[in-house]
Formats: sequence, C-alpha cells, structure tokens
Amino acid sequence: MKVQPAVFLDRDGTLNEDRGYVTTLDEFVLLPGVCEGIARLNECGFLVIVVTNQSAIARGFMTEKDLLRIHEHFAEQLHEAGAHVNGWYVCPHHPDDGCACRKPRPGMIHQAVKDFDLDASRCFFVGDKVSDLQAAQASGVEGILVTTSPYAKQAKLAHQEGVLPIAYIADSFSQAIEWMIQDSRKMS
Ligand SMILES: [Zn+2]
Repeated sequence: MKVQPAVFLDRDGTLNEDRGYVTTLDEFVLLPGVCEGIARLNECGFLVIVVTNQSAIARGFMTEKDLLRIHEHFAEQLHEAGAHVNGWYVCPHHPDDGCACRKPRPGMIHQAVKDFDLDASRCFFVGDKVSDLQAAQASGVEGILVTTSPYAKQAKLAHQEGVLPIAYIADSFSQAIEWMIQDSRKMS
C-alpha cells in the first residue's frame, strides 16, 4: 500500500505574518504564495497539516472560539483559491505548562502521524523557527526552513553551527513547496 506523503506547516511566520500574538482576523495576514502553494500540494497528493503553538489562549489573550474564527477565515481564503488543509493541530498551552504538544516537542506531529496513519520519513515540516525544526527532528520528519520571518536567522545560525538539521532553506513559501515536490519524487 502506498503511504500518502504529508506536509506539516507551521502557521505564524510561515503562512501568515508573525505579529506576535494573532488574536483577531485583522491581524491574520497571509504571506505571498501561500494559498497557491497549498493548492499545489493538494494537487500533488500531499496531505496538508497545520501545526501551531497558540499560547495566547492559555495567556487569556483570545479564546478557542476566536482561534476557530481565524482558522475558518483562513479556510475560506484557501477555498477561494481551490486549496484546503486536511488537519489542524493547535497547542493552546502556556510554555510553563510542560505539555507534550508545544513545539519544540513533537506531540502534535506524533498525534497527526497516528491520526492519518503516516510514514514520518515521507513527511516534511515547513517552519521559520528553531522550535519548528527541532520538532521536525524529534519526530523524524524532514525539516525545511523558510526565511520569511525575522526568527529564521536564529535557525539558520544554529544550522551553520551544526546543531540543527535542516534539509533545505527556502527564501519563500513557494520555493519550499517546489523543493518538497521534487524531493518527494526522488523518494518514490
Ligand atoms: Zn500544549
């Protein structure tokens, strides 16, 4: 049986502008090429799974309902572009809660691998932060860095120092998508 490849996507800084805590629809601003890139992944047979830390919930800056509204709004924008996300995984906890799901811990990826019956070695994770790449590493998923946020510098540096594995560094979301599609063809 052929296992479906999947792409895990970080949210803030990867799909939308990282403005600190995004708690309202106005603050959710998609980065260029995101809807088109996700449509490409859909077309090429990848499952698309969003994996995001949202401690603003634990901090009381927004409710679960507020977050749901933002994700519904995003899903509508995707729909208009003929794209869709297959799964949403959110860590609502505070960093001090010590939960298993908050990245850099791999809890959300593990859960998705289980839920969708995935082969982690055939999956990719796209993110802009050290914690994204660490979560990818901890779950045996190929990590891709997008340099679309100021946080990416830190991850790039850690990679150059040899302490953070990164399979590919992309200047844009679309570049990351095309690289994964090519790389996945090599694997199969
Ligand atoms: Zn959590």
